[in-house]
Formats: sequence, structure tokens, C-alpha cells
Amino acid sequence: MGFEQIVGQARATRALQEAFARGRIPNAYLFAGPAGVGKATTANILAKLINCEGPRQDSNPCDVCASCRKIEHNNHMDVSTLEPDNSTFKIKQIRELHRALRFPPQEGKMRVLTLDGVEYLNVEAANAFLKILEEPPPGNLFVLISSNPSMLLPTILSRCQRVPFAPINRDLLQELLVERHGFDQVRAELASGLSEGSVARALALDSNLTNEERRFFLQGLWGLHRQPKGTTLALELAQQLKDKGDKLPLYFDLLRTWYRDMLFLRELEEPARHLIHRDLQPALERHRAMLHTDQIYDAIRAIEHATYALQRRAAPLLTLENLFLALQFM
Ligand SMILES: [Zn+2]
Repeated sequence: MGFEQIVGQARATRALQEAFARGRIPNAYLFAGPAGVGKATTANILAKLINCEGPRQDSNPCDVCASCRKIEHNNHMDVSTLEPDNSTFKIKQIRELHRALRFPPQEGKMRVLTLDGVEYLNVEAANAFLKILEEPPPGNLFVLISSNPSMLLPTILSRCQRVPFAPINRDLLQELLVERHGFDQVRAELASGLSEGSVARALALDSNLTNEERRFFLQGLWGLHRQPKGTTLALELAQQLKDKGDKLPLYFDLLRTWYRDMLFLRELEEPARHLIHRDLQPALERHRAMLHTDQIYDAIRAIEHATYALQRRAAPLLTLENLFLALQFM
């Protein structure tokens, strides 16, 4: 598998291939961009490329040599990925990493260490990791992966070469869902619209949220503005969503895209073809009629704020209650 398999990230992959061709691989990269757009897969292909023993073609790994195969099967001694241990990277993990770095790469040309979710370094671990980045031993490449780089220490950011990954364009994503994941056109269209350019989210949405659940939830939202029942509905919705567990982020995707659609309905001349919830246009129109443009922007901000609060482990019920009450009183 070469870089051409990474859909919609030509700028990022070309930059990496060029750096490799010129012998200018830095000590550390930061792959920054939304979750589920190919950052980890790209790190894997880069590790193969650097360590490939076969004839490389156009700065792509051969995919058949011993090194490429070991990396493919996750048993190359010098290529590994670290992930947060129970939601954060702990100092112990960074100390182990530090110990491994005392030795040169064991079997490959260069050790490639990927830290996936690097925004979850706790303070102590981040400081220990910073020391490593300040004086990186030769023969090592760090690939830091983050969907939220603003949470990283600036001192870490400044020591990495940043490679931005973009959300995947909706048409490309739709095509990918059909070709590689066997979606039919209708499912692909909806999932690609809802997932805001993330393959992982498109797949999660499709398997975890039925169309009926989506329609039921969104069509009821305008009820927030009905007096005097709006407040009761706001508190009910908060309670219902609190119990959604792993599905909660999907409901946030629905909220975000619903208000985004409302904005498009107001601002664009031919909104229909840009709408994600095209099938619910009448409900969307009815809800939109109750809000000014400024209020729609405020709603989107409130949703972003709640998303961020939940990522920082704010109390779910309270955060959701605040959100729905805010949406109600827009
Ligand atoms: Zn190879």
C-alpha cells in the first residue's frame, strides 16, 4: 500500500515524499487534522518507505520486502505506535520510550515512533517527552498525531514539523465509501455529508445510528422553541443523550450539521444540493423560521463549546442541560 491509497491528502503525502526524496526527514513530524482522515495510515506508510529494502517506486515503499511486511504485520522492532494508557499518556510510558532510545535502531534504517493522540500527554509526561525532543538521539523519527493540536505545549509544537491533514472532500469520501466499504449511493451520500470529511466517523455513523434515530431526533428539535414545553424538552433531551454513551459524539455530529444546514438554507441561493439533511428539509425550514442568522451562529458556538467541554471530561448531564437550555433560549 502506497501513499496513493490515502484519499484526499495529496498535499500532506506529497510533502512527505519530497522530504524523503531530498533526504530531509526531520526529527519529528506533527500530523495535525481531524480524526479518521488517514493520519495513522500515512505514518505507517512513511515508516515503510524509510525502512524499505526493496526497490522503491516514486517515493513509495515496495510493500513486499521483509521490512515492509514486518511493518504491515506490526512486528518490526523499530516501528511502533504508542497510544494513551486509559485516556492519557503516563510518565511511565515516556520513561520506557526513553530507555528504548538509548540503543540504535535494532533491525531497520530508522526507528519510527508514532504517538497517536499526543494531546493526551499529561503534564509530567509532556515535560519528559519535551526533553527527548530537545535532544533527539540520531536514527529516530517521531510522528506525533493529533486531532486537537491546540492542546499541545507550544514548546512541543515548535519542535515538530507540522503536516496538516484536511477533512476529506465530500465527493471523494462518498466515492471511497462506495468503492472500499460497499455502501450504496444513498447511504454513502448521507454518511459522507454527516461525517465532515472523516472516514472513521462515516463508518461509525453508518453502523451505530439508524436513519430512523437520526430523523426522530432532528425533527423534534424545533420543539425547543415551543412555550411552555421547551424547557421540559431541553431537560429530557439532555437526559436521553447522557445515556447514549459511545453514540454521544454521533448526536453532536447531528446537532452541528443540523444548524449548519439551517445556515445554508438562509445564506445560499440554491441550498438544497448542499444540505446534509436534505430529506428533512421541511422540518429544517420550520426550525429555521424561528431563528435569526446570529442565533444560528450562537447555536453552533454553543454546540462546539459543549463538545469541547465533554472532551475535557466535564460532567455530561450538566453540560448537556446547559447546551439544550442555551439552544432553547437562542
Ligand atoms: Zn519494501
